[in-house]
Amino acid sequence: MIILAKVVPLFSGSKGNSYFIGSSGEGVLVDVGRSCKQIENALALNDIEIGSIGAVFITHEHTDHCNGLRVFAKKHKLKIYASEGTLEAMSEKKLICPENDIYVIEDKISVGNMQVERCDTPHDARESCCYKVYTSDDRKAVIATDMGVMTEDVRKLISSSDFAVVESNHDVRMLKLGGYPYIVKQRILSDKGHLCNDACAEELAGFIKSGNVRLMLGHISENNNTPDLAFNTSVNELSRLGIKRGIDYTLETVPAETNGKSVIF
Ligand SMILES: [Zn+2]
Ligand SMILES: [Zn+2]
Repeated sequence: MIILAKVVPLFSGSKGNSYFIGSSGEGVLVDVGRSCKQIENALALNDIEIGSIGAVFITHEHTDHCNGLRVFAKKHKLKIYASEGTLEAMSEKKLICPENDIYVIEDKISVGNMQVERCDTPHDARESCCYKVYTSDDRKAVIATDMGVMTEDVRKLISSSDFAVVESNHDVRMLKLGGYPYIVKQRILSDKGHLCNDACAEELAGFIKSGNVRLMLGHISENNNTPDLAFNTSVNELSRLGIKRGIDYTLETVPAETNGKSVIF
């Protein structure tokens, strides 16, 4: 039997984030940032049985990452993993139901035949992190968003994987000229904010040279970016370095809402 590891982006961006990663009948969810109903509908649209989800991993307590967690995890009796700080922050805000099986992930744990590894991210949350998921056929995927700067640890995590979603949140010029309050702009631009198009584009060549050639751009701002601008910034930077899309790597943008497409990696 051929086992196909796949990533199904369900939601991405400031209105909500959620990804299914798995292979043949088992998987995990990274973040539950939409309502229970919306997550259920997105899973159904992609033919993913909720019973195949071994656990839910939450990156941090911002509501675009755990909005639907309380209802969804309780209804489907799902195990929840996050850092200790994220779990504390979510329970203070009543974003998590204490009746669920809740666990702190320190570094790496097993879920069925899969494994999940945690790596901390610089973001304005209590103890944010990203995750690397190892499928049962030992394919590796990373979802790395909500980080003000790329760190050496996250770089290593992505470089040693087969697939990654990398944050390409905003165009700095659009953000600076846009209508957000000054304090919000400063927050997004800070080392604990979000990764901009240029910073993302500069990272991709290193990942491709290390062998991770299946890349997607995620958490694209609706107000301070466009999918085309994020995409072109990265493709142009890689072309400048002589790295060719379709030959040396694949790149797509993650849609704000699932379009029924998944990525086999
Ligand atoms: Zn976010
Ligand atoms: Zn966030």
